[in-house]
Amino acid sequence: MVFSRRVMRRTYSDYTRYRPFLREDFLFRCAYCLRNEFFVGGEAGCVIDHHRPQHGPFGRPDLISVYENLYWCCVECNSIKGDTWPSPEELAKERRFLDPCQPEDDHDLHWDVAEDGRLSSLTSVGEYTIDKLVLNREGLIYYRQCRLRWEHEYAELRAFLAEWELEESVCAVVEARLAELASWIDPPVFDRPRRSG
Ligand SMILES: [Zn+2]
Repeated sequence: MVFSRRVMRRTYSDYTRYRPFLREDFLFRCAYCLRNEFFVGGEAGCVIDHHRPQHGPFGRPDLISVYENLYWCCVECNSIKGDTWPSPEELAKERRFLDPCQPEDDHDLHWDVAEDGRLSSLTSVGEYTIDKLVLNREGLIYYRQCRLRWEHEYAELRAFLAEWELEESVCAVVEARLAELASWIDPPVFDRPRRSG
């Protein structure tokens, strides 16, 4: 998946002001593990990640409020990533984080998702990103297994509906299940509860 980002006409010195724009540009998903906000506790389960970290040996505090350096990210991936950034020696070996805002860094080009939910790297960029972000952690493997099951069932039921002339009552049951699966594959968006006043 590649995220295309808007060009911000207005700039803010407080980077948290970009929050609503980032959520939309990243399609309400974590830039790295790709989980929808729905599966990480809604909007509150995500934070703004500085792709190039602010601190650490390769930190760039000057990019703190630069929109192109801000990524929508689940709390877990953000906390694991921390100030990690490849050294020049690692960069020379193409050991770096995948940048999902660049077409050449589509996740699917750098790793495969196996039926058991594990990621296997196809490139050194994929390997570095999986390793440093621990993308084969248990919760993510389970999430990918579920998602694959929902997608398979959805495709099978769609084919079933297209192939067979079903009684109306059976059709209604299948369609209800399809709607349920669709809502898990592409879940609704919930905003952070706002305080009154
Ligand atoms: Zn994540």
